[in-house]
Amino acid sequence: MARAAEKYKVVCPVCGKQLFSSSSADVEDVMCPKCKKQYVVRVGVGSLQIRESQMQYSIDNSK
Ligand SMILES: [Zn+2]
Repeated sequence: MARAAEKYKVVCPVCGKQLFSSSSADVEDVMCPKCKKQYVVRVGVGSLQIRESQMQYSIDNSK
């Protein structure tokens, strides 16, 4: 069996759109253009984790 190139394909866990593929990225911030959600991708040896970025919006209601 041919071994695939060591590239990690990152797809959006919500809509399945391919966001990027990387071979050496450690931690990447990616945004799904479809869902408008930002994800943090962590690429390790033989593993890939994707999770929703915990962006903090400061809501200013004082105006
Ligand atoms: Zn998406």
